[in-house]
Amino acid sequence: MQQPMRLELKLALIGAISKIIIFLILFMAVEQMIDTLAFRYTDKNLVKMKEKTMSIVKRIGIKSYLDAEKDSTFASYNILKDEYISINLDATGEINQLTFSDQSRSIEDENFDYRILNFSFEIDHQRYMLEIGKNIQLIYNLNKTLKSISISIILLVLMITILFDIGIFKYLLHPLNQRIIPKLKTIVNPETFQYTELDSSTSDFVYLNNTINELMHKVSTILQNQKKFIGDVSHELFTPISVMQSKLDNLLVSGKLPAKTVEMIMDQQKQLIRLQHIIKALLLISRIENDQYAKNDKVNLRELVEEIVANIEERAHITNISLENRIAKDTSLSNVNKYLIYILLFNLVSNAIKYNKDGGSVQVYNEQGESKLLVVVEDNGIGIALENLDLIFNRFKRMETTREEGQGLGLSIVSSIAAFHDATIEVKSQPGIGSKFIISFPSKPSL
Ligand code: ADP
Repeated sequence: MQQPMRLELKLALIGAISKIIIFLILFMAVEQMIDTLAFRYTDKNLVKMKEKTMSIVKRIGIKSYLDAEKDSTFASYNILKDEYISINLDATGEINQLTFSDQSRSIEDENFDYRILNFSFEIDHQRYMLEIGKNIQLIYNLNKTLKSISISIILLVLMITILFDIGIFKYLLHPLNQRIIPKLKTIVNPETFQYTELDSSTSDFVYLNNTINELMHKVSTILQNQKKFIGDVSHELFTPISVMQSKLDNLLVSGKLPAKTVEMIMDQQKQLIRLQHIIKALLLISRIENDQYAKNDKVNLRELVEEIVANIEERAHITNISLENRIAKDTSLSNVNKYLIYILLFNLVSNAIKYNKDGGSVQVYNEQGESKLLVVVEDNGIGIALENLDLIFNRFKRMETTREEGQGLGLSIVSSIAAFHDATIEVKSQPGIGSKFIISFPSKPSL
C-alpha cells in the first residue's frame, strides 16, 4: 500500500499542480500574445515607413529615385541590413494593394529573414512595386527576451504562491495537527482520555473533536460496564460453587458411599476446582482493571524471584528443569503492588516450566534499557509459532498443540498486571527453540 501523506502536504501538492497547469496555459497564452503583438507592431512600423516613402516619392517625384540607379530599380539598405526599401517597375500587381509576407533575401552573399511589406502604385501610367523589409531576427530576439522575462516572473509568482499556500494550510490545519492528533496519539486507555474542548474557528475540527470525545466516552462506559459485569458475575458464582464444594466434601466424609459414587463425586470436585480457578482468575483481572489494588510497595526483585523459585522448584524437578535466578542483587521496583508482581512473574516462570522439554532450563534476569527496567523470563522449551504470538494474551486462548492443564488465563493476568504498572510485554519465540518474555517497567516515575 502507498505510504500515507500528511494532509497539508497533499493540499499544497494539489495546489501546486493546479497552479502549474494554470501557469502553463497562461505562459502559452502570453507567448502567443507576444508573437502577435510583435508582428502587429512590425507591420504597423512597415506601414508607417511605406507612408513616409510614398509622401517623399510624391514630393520629389519617382524619377529622382529611379535615375539614381539607372536600371529603373531603387534599393536601399541600412548598414546592419535591419531594414531595406526597394522600388521596382511592376506590371502585374493590383494597384494600391498592401500585402505582408515573411521571406528570405540574399544581400551581399548573406541570407536574411525579413517581414516584407509590398505595395504597388501607379505614377504617370507606370506601375511600381514598393517593397519594405524588416529583419525578423530582431523580432525573434525581442520575443526571446520578453519570453524569458515572463517565465522568470511566472516562476517567481508560482514559488511565492506555493509557499503562501503551505503557510496558509499549516495555519488552517493547526487545530488538527497540534491539538486533535497529539490527543489521539496519547490514548493508552479510554478511561484516561483527555476530554478537552477545542477552541477553533473551523467548525469541522470542533465537530471532529466533539465526536471523538463522545466516542471515547461511550467506549469508556462500555468498558467499565464490561469490567463490572465480569467482576459481578464472578463474585456471584464464587459463593454457590464454594457451597457445592463443601457439600461434596461432607458427602465424602460421611464414608458410607459405594466406590462408584465416590469416584463420581471426586470427578465433580475436580470440575468445581477448575471452575473456582477460572472464577478466581477472572475476579483478579476484574479487580486489577478496576484499580482495586494499591501501588506503593518497593520490591527487591531478586528476593521475589527467589521466593517464586522456592515455591515452584518441586514442579521443575519433576521434569528435570533447572531454574536460574540471575536478577542482579539490588534490582528493585518501587511504587508497585508486590502481590501482583509476584503473580506476574510466577505465571511466566510457571509457563516456562509447563511448556518446556525434559531437561530444559528457565532463566530469570534483568537488563537496563533506556529509562526502563527489563525483566526477562527465558526458556528453551517448545516455543510458540509466529502466527500465535499475538493470540496468547487473549482470554481463554490456548494453543491447539498444548496438552498441559490450564485455563488460558495466565497470560491475560500477566498482561493486566503489566498494564496496571504501565509496563509493556514483548515476546520472542521460536518453535522448538524456546521463548523469551520481556517485561519493560518504566524507570520513572514508578521505579
Ligand atoms: P494456560 O497456560 O493456562 O494455557 P496462558 O494464558 O498462561 O494459559 O498461556 C496461553 C498459551 O500460551 C498456552 O496455552 C501456551 O500454548 C502458550 N504459552 C504460554 N507461555 C509459553 C511458553 N513459555 N512457551 C510456549 N508456549 C507458551
